[in-house]
Order: sequence, then structure tokens, then C-alpha cells
Amino acid sequence: MTNVYKIAVLPGDGIGPEVVEAALTVLDAVQDAVKGLRLEYLRGEAGYHCIAKYGTNLPAETLEMLKETSVCLKGPMTTPEEPGSPVSVAVTIRKLYDLYANIRPCKTLPGVAALKPDIDLIILRENTEGFYFAKEVEIVPGVAVALRLITRKACERIARCAFNLASKRKKLVTYVHKGNILKLTDGIFKQAVLDVAKEYPEVAVEEQRIDAMAMQLIKRPETFDVVVTTNMFGDILSDEAAQLVGGLGFAAGANVGDTYGMFEPVHGSAPKYAGKNKVNPLATILAAKMMLDHLGEGEAAERVEKAVLAVLTEGKTRTYDLGGNATTSEMAEAIAAKILGQEI
Ligand code: NAD
Repeated sequence: MTNVYKIAVLPGDGIGPEVVEAALTVLDAVQDAVKGLRLEYLRGEAGYHCIAKYGTNLPAETLEMLKETSVCLKGPMTTPEEPGSPVSVAVTIRKLYDLYANIRPCKTLPGVAALKPDIDLIILRENTEGFYFAKEVEIVPGVAVALRLITRKACERIARCAFNLASKRKKLVTYVHKGNILKLTDGIFKQAVLDVAKEYPEVAVEEQRIDAMAMQLIKRPETFDVVVTTNMFGDILSDEAAQLVGGLGFAAGANVGDTYGMFEPVHGSAPKYAGKNKVNPLATILAAKMMLDHLGEGEAAERVEKAVLAVLTEGKTRTYDLGGNATTSEMAEAIAAKILGQEI
């Protein structure tokens, strides 16, 4: 039997096309190695470079193409910051497909400098509301308000996602809030987590305030398993957690809803490195690995992970951020070669 998957591929801006191409090199090797797996790539345009041509960063053709797929591999995109400019492509796709769970794993990798040798945690960020609901109001010039939307429904479903993940891992959920100040909104979040926790008696629960959590992540990162929090706290904590295990070059993220999944590196478009074939493609390759897991292709995902670990352990092919001088494509080819040579 052959499992055929249509995958939307959005290379994006800056270093995006290079790191996405590297991930496709690895996915091609996986297709060759795993019997009965076929991946069809549907490439679409999206990102800052589209604005001049289409007047938007997410053209209608690309939106139509996404409808043919259930997963998307997305490269980083440059986001304009001027008031009135288009919102980020990632935020638009998250809203369109209600991708409420942002899953960002952080694990110590061999040969990569990390704060502790045994970090293995996931930052799970609610992805659809909080401050990213993006309602800002200017009351009078020089005075503005940002609204933070928190609903019981969204808190419950992200809490359930946290407990489901933790029940298959180290069985600990840490929930992070600022309930002493945001009594109403974070009160709803806290209560939802505690109510859902009752359905998972095998999973331990730990409470942290966001300020203390920022410190605890540095002090004892190895003790955490699944850390669940609201949108902006999760955005900030996940970059902090990425740095604990080697930085943005290794940080992959999944944006998952009930019917669609978008997989991307956490880093941005790093314009100063664009076109130089220099940056680390591992964040995007690990995002592709998460996509295979999401599709239920466990063997394929395992092959990618093992190949990445083998290349890092060997230490011969290393991009500049790892102290080496291998190119983006050389790193991808080394991982692809390991996949093709693997015995599983
Ligand atoms: P950035 O992540 O693009 O780059 C910051 C620095 O991190 C780089 O200069 C580089 O030193 C390092 N870095 C990033 N990716 C790397 C990699 N793969 N390998 C090695 N080193 C790497 O952050 P920025 O400069 O703040 O943002 C640039 C643009 O990207 C902005 O327009 C921002 O809005 C956008 N952005 C997009 C996304 C996304 O599409 N998901 C995420 C973050 C930032």
C-alpha cells in the first residue's frame, strides 16, 4: 500500500528558500528509504516579496492551493512592522485553520552546546488568542490599549493538548500564567487547566508564574516536561527555551488544529544571510520531522531524527553556528545520506 500526502510548501523570504530546499532534500531521502511513502509537494508563493507583485503577502492562488492539503511546510517570512501593513503569514494561516496549538520541543542534542545535558521539554503555546487577537485601540494620540482575549474554550483545548502530550512523555504539565495581576483572564486559564487535569490522574501538575518561570527555565530546565501557557508568554518562553539547547538554528515548531497542521522553523528570515547557503537548516528539517509524525508516519520521522543525531554526533558536517564551515546544502545532504544508509 502506498500512502500519498500532498504537502503545501511555502519557501518564504530571506534564508527561507535555502532552508526549505534543505528540508525537501531530507524528505526526498525519506521517501526513497520508506516503502510506500509518497510526498507530493505543492509549492506556493507567500511572504514579504509577494507584496509588491500581489498587494498581499498571501496571494489568493496560494490560499486556494492550501485547500488541497492538510499540512504545510512553511519557511520563515519577513514581516513588515509599519502600522496598516499586512499581518504575518503565519498568524493569518493560524487563524484561517484555527491552528490552536503551537508545539515547540527543546531537547539537548549531541555536539551542540546546551545549558544542561539532559533537557527534554516542550513549550506548548495557545496560538489563537491572547494579545495576538491583535485588537489595539488608540484612545487619544499617545494613549493606546491592547486587548487580551482569553476564552474558556481555547484554554480547555490547549490544556487537553498539554495533558495528551505529557501522558505520552514524562507525565508532568507545568502551567504558566500571571494570575496575580491578570486575575480575570488568567483566572480562566488556570481553572481550565485544573479542570482538565482531573481527566488525567496519571499526569502531575505544577504551577508557575511567568516571571518565576523565566528564571526556573534557566535554573532547572531538565526538570520540565510539557509547559503550557497563553500566547505571548509562550512566544517568549519558547525563544528562551530554544537558546538553552543551542539557539534558533535548532528550534522547530508545529502549529496544529483539528484539521490542519503547519510546520516551520521558529527563526525568522535572517536577511543578512539570504542567498549565502550558510545558515543551519536543522530547525526546518526538524519541523519536517514533526510534520511526518503528525501525518502518522512514525518510521519516517524516526529516520529523520536518527540521521540528524548521527550527523551531529559525528561532528564532521557543521554549519557556522556550530563552529564549522559546512554549507546549508551540505548539512542537508549529510543527513539525507545517513537516512539512505540507515538500518531500522
Ligand atoms: P531571525 O531569526 O531572522 O535572525 C536573527 C539571527 O539569528 C540571525 O541574524 C542569525 O544570527 C540567527 N539565525 C536565525 N536563523 C538561523 C539559522 N537557521 N542558522 C543559524 N543562525 C540563524 O530574526 P530577526 O532578524 O529578528 O527577524 C528577521 C525577519 O524575520 C523579521 O522580518 C521578522 O519579523 C521575521 N520573522 C519571521 C518568523 C516566521 O516567519 N515564523 C519568525 C521570526 C521572525
